[in-house]
Formats: sequence, structure tokens, C-alpha cells
Amino acid sequence: MDEEHVDGDLVRVLYSEKEIQERLAQLAEEIERDYEGKDLLLVGVLRGAVMVMADLARHFERHIEMDWMAVSSYGSGTKSSGVVRILKDLDTDINGRHVLVVEDIIDTGLTLSWLVSNLGSRGPASVEVFTLLSKPEASRMSIEVKYVGYEIPNEFVVGFGLDYNERYRNLRSVGTLSPHVYS
Ligand code: IMP
Repeated sequence: MDEEHVDGDLVRVLYSEKEIQERLAQLAEEIERDYEGKDLLLVGVLRGAVMVMADLARHFERHIEMDWMAVSSYGSGTKSSGVVRILKDLDTDINGRHVLVVEDIIDTGLTLSWLVSNLGSRGPASVEVFTLLSKPEASRMSIEVKYVGYEIPNEFVVGFGLDYNERYRNLRSVGTLSPHVYS
């Protein structure tokens, strides 16, 4: 769906579908160059990364493989604690493989740090991270995020896989959610 279908729920559109697709195409080209001659396994983190993964993957002009993980982080209220439980593990043995974790957004990056070290312990050839969006706090993270679509301000955004209470994931653009929706 498009902005007109969410009836004033957005304060503003940050990135249109066209802009996002152009950026994903650019990054796919960069990734192709970086992984030339190497196999590549994209690992999507459910559920937010579904749209990013589907579109990024289709911009490649080479073979890639895809697998998925689902994790939940224990925390009090809205604060993530960095303690993580695997809800769905990979079906693929990543020993000796080049792994690129595909994320929709990184905020504190606590869950992602755990995930990267967990994957790292399985003997992969490499583990790197791709995210469509990154919030300011992410820059304080200990792990390096190799591919970033856009750095965004510290606002709550929805669309392109990102939800508020499981809604707006199917919005084609990314926009800032109006406070009237959650207050
Ligand atoms: P982190 O572990 O603090 O980096 O949080 C990352 C997760 O929080 C994402 O995978 C999203 O599920 C959620 N999240 C963080 N910021 C937003 C936002 O602006 N909109 C929607 N979900 C968000």
C-alpha cells in the first residue's frame, strides 16, 4: 500500500519506494564487487527484514543464497537487554561460508551484536552486516555495519517491513509515524 492508504498516519515520508529501490540497487552493485568470486549467503532477520531481503536479493546479477533467523530479545518493557533467544535457527551450515546479515533497522544494535557473535562462533569465512536504516545510537555499537542504506534521525519509522504493532509493514515507502497513532 501507499501513503494515501494510511490516512494521515505519517508525519512525513522519509524515502519513497523509488528512492529505496535505487539505493538497494547501488548497494547490491557494491556488494557484488566486494564478493566477486566468492559464494554469498544472505541471512535475513525475521520479520522486519523480509521486504529488504526480497528486493535487495533481486537486484543482484549473480547467484546468492538466502536463509532466515528469528530471534527474540529478553528485556524489561521497551528496552532490549541484549540477552537473546533463537526462535528459528538457520537451516544452512555456515562453516566456511561468507555470510551477510540483512537487517531492516538498527537502533541500539544489542540484538545484532549478539547475533553476529553467535554466527561468528560457527566457523564462517566471514560475517558482515547490511541494514536499510540506521539510527544514531547504532554508531556507538562495537560491531561494524558494512552496508547502510540510510542514516536516519532518532524517530519512530514504519514501512518497507517496519511495523508499529504489526501494522504498516506492507507500506511501500518509509515514513515517520505520527504521534496520534501511538498516543
Ligand atoms: P535494536 O536491537 O535496539 O537495534 O532494535 C532493533 C529492532 O527494534 C528492529 O529490528 C525493529 O524491530 C525495532 N525498531 C527500532 N526502531 C524502530 C523504528 O523506528 N520503527 C520500527 N521498529 C523499530
